[in-house]
Amino acid sequence: MKKSIVKRIAIIVTGLSVCCCLNGCNNNNNGINNAFGNNSNDETESASRDVFAMDTYMTVTAYGKGCETAVDEAIDEINRIDELLSVSNEDSEVYILNESGSEIVSDDTKKLIEASLDLYEKSAGAYDITIYPLMVKWGFTTGSYKVPSKDELSTLLKNVDAGKIEFDKESGFVSLPNGMQIDLGAIAKGYTSQRIMQIYENNGIDCGLVSLGGNIQAYGKKYDDSLWKIAIENPKDTADYIGVIQVEDKAVITSGGYERFFEEDGEVYHHIIDPKTGYPAKSGLSSVTIVSDDGMYADGLSTTLFVMGKEEAVKLWKQSEYDFEMVLVTDEGDIYITDGLKDSFSSEYEYEVIE
Ligand code: AMP
Ligand code: MG
Repeated sequence: MKKSIVKRIAIIVTGLSVCCCLNGCNNNNNGINNAFGNNSNDETESASRDVFAMDTYMTVTAYGKGCETAVDEAIDEINRIDELLSVSNEDSEVYILNESGSEIVSDDTKKLIEASLDLYEKSAGAYDITIYPLMVKWGFTTGSYKVPSKDELSTLLKNVDAGKIEFDKESGFVSLPNGMQIDLGAIAKGYTSQRIMQIYENNGIDCGLVSLGGNIQAYGKKYDDSLWKIAIENPKDTADYIGVIQVEDKAVITSGGYERFFEEDGEVYHHIIDPKTGYPAKSGLSSVTIVSDDGMYADGLSTTLFVMGKEEAVKLWKQSEYDFEMVLVTDEGDIYITDGLKDSFSSEYEYEVIE
């Protein structure tokens, strides 16, 4: 028996309530969702816009002189990147690449493919943009969900291996072996929020915040000079929060199976695929939140570490050249934070600090 995706709807409603807060910004919700803050200084110029793009609700907010132009440009940038990377828009670069098998791509797509191949290598293939045919087969691209047969999965898995992508980072030439198709959905929103930070800087605004489907990136501090408070959802109950991180100039990006899933015969199937098995990743983690200066890598890493699981995530955190901190929530509900967040994370739940 299939159940409808109740949680997906819950996420959209959460997104809307955030938008409402932004437009009225009368913040009386006990610190929850107050990333957008109540800038009590009525003199402060502020602008905020909502948009539905990349299959999710987005909100961009800017404060200070130039904020109107900054948010207009931010919305244009979201739409531009969406049109470039969409897997379903027939005019998008990714769609054309997936259909034709080879293409010289734009600078944006080049950067994303380069970062994706880097993550693929560092994660021993846990992060793999060639999972796209699996996303289609599971129905995550259309909403017509179904559990594929083992044969279907093993046939599709033959074409899943980003190591086989031919890529020239100078020219931007990309060539995919026959049957291979890519999906940059794990990194696109973080790249977009990173680009918006640049737009904010170019416009000389004081501070700002973007929420792209719940992925947050903060520009500067809040207008009243306090830190932005970003609440992290409880994977078991998205109306609840497992804690709050206070940040300045950071991306705070979460991946979790609860963000998009369906149920069949009592089994939950979510949208983050283990490229080794073709099934939704079962790594023992319910959510991974990455805190980093770099939105693009924060987004890529959140998906990667969700697939890898706690032990490998900690190894990568300790060893890798990526500069990030993380909050992990296990399937049992245990919470772990890395020690760089010791002073900025607070929670009513017990949690352990990884050093
Ligand atoms: P996120 O919400 O950032 O974790 O990204 C999830 C999206 O990334 C999915 O909807 C797919 O488009 C894509 N994806 C799923 N599994 C993987 C994977 N193992 N490696 C790279 N991208 C993935
Ligand atoms: Mg991601």
